[in-house]
Amino acid sequence: MRFAATKRFLCVLCVLGVLCGSRFFAAALDREAFTITKYDLTVQLEPQQQRLGARGTIILRNDSSELQKIIALQISSSLNWRAIRDAGKALQFVSQPYASDIDHTGALSEAIVTLPAEIKPKDSVELEIGYEGVIPVDMTRLTRVGVPDDIARHTSWDHIGASFTAVRGAGYVAWYPITTESADFSEGNSLFEVVDRWKARAAGSEFQLAITSQYGGSDSRPVLICGAETDHAANADDSAGKREAKRVEKHGAKNDEVHTECQWNPLGTTAPMFAMADYVDNFKPPLRILSLRGHEAGAEKYSDALSPAMRFVTEWFGKPSAPVTIADLSDPHAAPFESGTLLMVSMAGEDTKLAGINVVHELVHSALASPRPWVYEGLAHFAEAAYREQQGGRESALDLLGIHRAAFLDAEKEVPAPPGKEIPTAQARDIGPPLATSYDEIYYRSKAAYVWWMLRDMVGDDALKAAIAKYRAADDKDSKYVEGLVEAAAKRDLGWFFDDWVYHDRGLPDVRVQLAHPWDDEKPGGGKQTQMITVTLENTGNAGAEIPFTVRCEGAEASRRLEVRARSTATLRVEIPSRPAEIVVNDGSVPENDLTNNVFKIPAQ
Ligand SMILES: [Zn+2]
Repeated sequence: MRFAATKRFLCVLCVLGVLCGSRFFAAALDREAFTITKYDLTVQLEPQQQRLGARGTIILRNDSSELQKIIALQISSSLNWRAIRDAGKALQFVSQPYASDIDHTGALSEAIVTLPAEIKPKDSVELEIGYEGVIPVDMTRLTRVGVPDDIARHTSWDHIGASFTAVRGAGYVAWYPITTESADFSEGNSLFEVVDRWKARAAGSEFQLAITSQYGGSDSRPVLICGAETDHAANADDSAGKREAKRVEKHGAKNDEVHTECQWNPLGTTAPMFAMADYVDNFKPPLRILSLRGHEAGAEKYSDALSPAMRFVTEWFGKPSAPVTIADLSDPHAAPFESGTLLMVSMAGEDTKLAGINVVHELVHSALASPRPWVYEGLAHFAEAAYREQQGGRESALDLLGIHRAAFLDAEKEVPAPPGKEIPTAQARDIGPPLATSYDEIYYRSKAAYVWWMLRDMVGDDALKAAIAKYRAADDKDSKYVEGLVEAAAKRDLGWFFDDWVYHDRGLPDVRVQLAHPWDDEKPGGGKQTQMITVTLENTGNAGAEIPFTVRCEGAEASRRLEVRARSTATLRVEIPSRPAEIVVNDGSVPENDLTNNVFKIPAQ
């Protein structure tokens, strides 16, 4: 992938005829050699002009194993580099367009910066930077691969505008510098690989943002946000107006300006974003609801969802304390987006159920911090399903999880080995990243939600709650830490499960009934007969699971659970109330490769 991207880069330069023949051309450029470990940015918005101007400092660390003298710094192609300085001294740089679908415009403005001295591996350099430009709506990267305009519009909603502004970070709009290889939407997973790699590299980075915006043309002061602000809780007693005034005073902003500050320390999986609109500000600690005029009914659903969601989350994850913000999107069909504990979602609809699970999700983040995406996001998605179960039963919870199953099923498909290179089927191998360290959303959201759900089904609510209560982000240094907590609470060995699902990606199980043998158990001495069935389940997949199954009989049924390890069988005798008709394996709580072989008809005898 890197090779291909480098080749493309060279082509771009050649076509432009800028660097051909220079010494630089001969040198291989490793665009991902440097990780930006610290951002300290001051951003000024001019919404009427859709403009953004930024200045500040960034610290870059050489994470490659070689000396580096050149840095490729990238921002959205609708922005332009103005200055790059090292200790006050202007550095030479060449600014080039660089095709990449990591930005909504499908391209980046790349500054190829020549440093005054080579940077050793692990050493860092601090640069002062300045850039500016406009951020209008741009759907280029989607429409050029054939996404219809109306769908693209609801997905690609980032822009700075006079009445509404919302701009997401890396993966959407490079409104702050990044260092990445080219990503291509049309090349399978290339875009996601580049974004995931960027997120993994930046997970430990610090980001400080001070953002100021002009406003005018409207009578009321708009609300500017860049996250679920940390100073909000402290000002809970103030009216919104006073709070804003305080901030303005503190930061010396002018009358017709709004100002706010955010920090992400560390970034984790968060893509920093900012938004500004004429919001109605409703704060019920720890939840801030920002809604647009005309969306009052939707906003009320969010407000109403808070108390039951607080009770549920507190019981499972402890008391939510970090501030949470849910902010409205102007397009009623816009795809929602989460940045830390800030959720952007349209409140135009009045879906009570959706409001409930959205609030639960954010409150879980507010209650439980974790450096591990599969714990942080996985638990929040698990909680959505558990809350749905409390409200509407197990089946509707499994339907909700089913949306996740669809998302990650493809990723879990084994790619057949080329002829002659087949691996013996009994030998398990990893087909994707381990969940424990994955920065791939499909894994840490969707797969993780199932993993937590299966764990709960195996150990029960009380044991899982006890394990979560003991969880401390600061102690989560060893990848087996979570396993230890759950095993201690459940008093059960779960090493096999964590091995197949968390420490490795063994794909999914595929379980079916191999044998079912009904029989009558005659008690000694000619007592009452009991009807029994011996069920053997076979798992042909490389991941084990505890599978629920139901024996359906005339007018009744019996449900059990059976642990079936990878590539093995397990047998259980089940007492049944009457003549058995069929066995249904897996109620949908275990993600499987093949769900078509889950019903087994028992032949009449
Ligand atoms: Zn989340």
